Amino acid sequence: MASKVDPNTKIFFLETGWHFKETIDFKDEIVKRLKLTNVADLKADQKTREEFNQKTGNKPYEVNPDYCCQINKVDPLDQALKGLDAWISGIRRSQSKTRKDVSIVEEYQGLFKINPLANVTSGDIWWYLKEHQLPKHPLFDKGYLSIGCWPCTRPVQAGDDERSGRWAGTEKTECGIHTFLKSKEARPKVEAPEEKQEGSEI
Ligand code: SF4
Repeated sequence: MASKVDPNTKIFFLETGWHFKETIDFKDEIVKRLKLTNVADLKADQKTREEFNQKTGNKPYEVNPDYCCQINKVDPLDQALKGLDAWISGIRRSQSKTRKDVSIVEEYQGLFKINPLANVTSGDIWWYLKEHQLPKHPLFDKGYLSIGCWPCTRPVQAGDDERSGRWAGTEKTECGIHTFLKSKEARPKVEAPEEKQEGSEI
C-alpha cells in the first residue's frame, strides 16, 4: 500500500542482528519487487551491542531479553523517530490480547503513531496478498504466524493467537516499540545487566 502511494516512502527495518536468514532474504525480495527506494536498516549502537553480547556469552536474548529488545529495537527506533511528526505501523487488534484495544491513531508529546491496519483481520491480509499477487514469508507455511528474531520465535500451536510463538513460555509479549508512545514514563524499567564477575552468572 505504501509503495503505491510513494515508493520513496521512508521505511525502517529493525536490523537486530538476530533475524532468520529467510527474513533478510524476504525483505530484500520485497524491496526489489516493490521498487522501494528509501529503506533504512536501524541498528543498535555497535559498542553497546558487542559489549552486551560478549557479557552474555552471545545469548543476550536468554540473559536479559528486555534489555536485548531495548538496545536492538526500542533505542534505534526512538533515535530514528526524532524530528518526525508521525509514523505508521502495521499492528492489528486481532494479533493478540495485548493488541486488542490498540487505537488507530496514538499521540505522545506531538509524535503521532498511526495504525491503519488496526481493524484488519488475518483473513483480510491473505485476501490482499492473493489479490495483489504478493509473496508471503517463507516460514509461514512452517507454522510461524508472527516472525521476529529467531531465538525468540516459535511456530504457533493450533488454536493459539498469532503472536503466541513470540517469547513463548515467558511472560514477555511485546518488545517495546508498540508500547512506548503511551508514555515514556510508563515504560517498564529496563536495566543494563550487571558486569559479569569471574565465575558468576549474570
Ligand atoms: S526479540 Fe529476542 S533476539 Fe530480538 S531483540 Fe528482542 S530479545 Fe533480542
